[in-house]
Amino acid sequence: MLKKILYSLWITIFLIFVFYTAKSTNFNTFLDAVENKTFDLRQNIIVKSGYKKPNKNILIVAIDDASYEYILEKYGEWPLPRDIYAKVIDNIEAQHPKSIAFDLMFVKSIKSKPSADEALAAAFKKYNNIYTAMNLDNQSVELRKPITLPENLSVPVTNYSLDIDFDSLSFLNCRSILPEIIQNTSNIGMINVSRAEDGILRKMPVFVKYQGKFYPQLAFRVGMGLIKHEEGYNPTEYIIDRNSNLILNNRKIFIDKDGGAILNWYGPTGTYQQIPMYKLVKAVEEGKQSNYNFTNKVVYFGTTASSLFDIKTTPIAKIYPGVEVQATYVNNLLDNSFITKVDKWITIFLGIILAALIGYMVIHVSSAAIVTLSFVSIYSAYIIFAYFIMKYHNLWIGIVYPLMLGFIIFISAFVVKYIIKSRDFEQQYLLATTDGLTELYNHRYFQEQMKMQVEQAKRYEAPFSLIIIDIDFFKKFNDTFGHQAGDAVLRQVAQLLKQSVRTTDIVCRYGGEEMSIILPNTSKEMSVSTAEKICKRVASKRFRLNNYQESNVTISLGVASFPDDGETPAQIIEMADKRLYQSKHNGRNQVT
Ligand code: GH3
Ligand code: MG
Ligand code: MG
Repeated sequence: MLKKILYSLWITIFLIFVFYTAKSTNFNTFLDAVENKTFDLRQNIIVKSGYKKPNKNILIVAIDDASYEYILEKYGEWPLPRDIYAKVIDNIEAQHPKSIAFDLMFVKSIKSKPSADEALAAAFKKYNNIYTAMNLDNQSVELRKPITLPENLSVPVTNYSLDIDFDSLSFLNCRSILPEIIQNTSNIGMINVSRAEDGILRKMPVFVKYQGKFYPQLAFRVGMGLIKHEEGYNPTEYIIDRNSNLILNNRKIFIDKDGGAILNWYGPTGTYQQIPMYKLVKAVEEGKQSNYNFTNKVVYFGTTASSLFDIKTTPIAKIYPGVEVQATYVNNLLDNSFITKVDKWITIFLGIILAALIGYMVIHVSSAAIVTLSFVSIYSAYIIFAYFIMKYHNLWIGIVYPLMLGFIIFISAFVVKYIIKSRDFEQQYLLATTDGLTELYNHRYFQEQMKMQVEQAKRYEAPFSLIIIDIDFFKKFNDTFGHQAGDAVLRQVAQLLKQSVRTTDIVCRYGGEEMSIILPNTSKEMSVSTAEKICKRVASKRFRLNNYQESNVTISLGVASFPDDGETPAQIIEMADKRLYQSKHNGRNQVT
């Protein structure tokens, strides 16, 4: 019974604690940060296992350090004149690639010749499989006047998820690219990223808002272009369902509450075949075809040169070029392999089951070593499960919350077990040392205490006394009023004795209707006067026998002290007994 109350009490306190901490944002942020690290670890191991194969048809044309230097040397400036880009595009298009995407922003440059810009814009008009980037930001509208983008750059989105609030993903301004390109194509996507607090890029937005309309990610546009081309799927509207999944026919993209799709990584930097751009520029200059095969490839242009500052930190590597992030995004879309976060209630549910299992083990298994081992095995199994479910099902199941829950339960179950054990011990001790009827100390305890008192009195050279008490004519009392009434009197006399002495004095039931009081540090005179006080008190008290009867009783007392009356417990007890007999002999109701 007591155990049950204690357990329920503990569980209540625990639940209040859990709900309280679950509400504390600081604590949550901390746990989320740790959870993110476990995600990174899982991704790294999965990538190293080589299970996920990147799409071989994605090629990266890298504006690497060599290309950057080549361009500076040859053309004396960066960016590369746009007509050269146009020629590179023509060169690649001759081999029929699936698409060409520029993770580059062709912004207006004072240096560039209008004719060169027009040549590039013309290429965008000529080929409908060329994509490029723009960026939405919150630059002050006084410094830069926000432009109105054409209708065909935005997409209709219906959001049924209550977790995603696109208004918090709204941007005030737009870093515009060449108006000639904007006029000539709708294949323009934004390249906004979303970083976690630790600066690591785990997610990329799918849609962001600008002037009330939705603009898709560049990689999303590129991927959807491919899906349209290969599978003929071309939705007129994008629908995000209640579970935050963007449904794309037989694919889905889970969008986290901050609007980001969680990328599933295929490998370290260099996963996709990379071609240094200067080689293509050279081929164009020489009026030749390049040596590379672009047929049916997705060709992604982007910077990898450190001086061009498009470097991200990802779970896979500290230095990861933005263009490879874009390639990974396209790959995720084609493979339908974006990471889905498992609903937090499922994680909590699993956590509670594990914690209950742990709690049960702690309470019912006596070996702490076995319990600890089970704790470690259960959670290792859970972590391995979390790893494989990410590897094979692209699901991100929380590790940190269940582990924390389990750990708290583990510790607290031990605490409860300990409390209960110590309470049991206390109870057993009480049972072994007290008398059930009078609740006084029992005979065994009395004997122990006598020994201890003698030892202490010897060491400190202090006296102590013993009073032995016997109820007068108790046999007759029992015969007259019955045994029940006798018991009631015994209890009340015991009470009265306790009330009449100091808390340091030890009142015991010596046996039958005999009681004894050990008075530490008390001289003969003091204890005789205490005995007399008790004798009078008992004699003057009316004892309740039952609901309708009262009666008087008297007691006889014998007092003996250390060291005057003896130096061993036996000698002192014997002397007290003798004096008690004396009191009886002299007429009872008195002290000797
Ligand atoms: P006196 O001590 O004055 O010489 O007379 P007495 O009648 O008290 O004598 P004695 O010590 O021989 O009798 C003790 C009686 O106490 C015997 C028994 O009936 C009663 N007694 C002992 N233990 C209990 C108990 O636990 N409950 C009740 N009701 N009576 C008890
Ligand atoms: Mg007796
Ligand atoms: Mg008696």
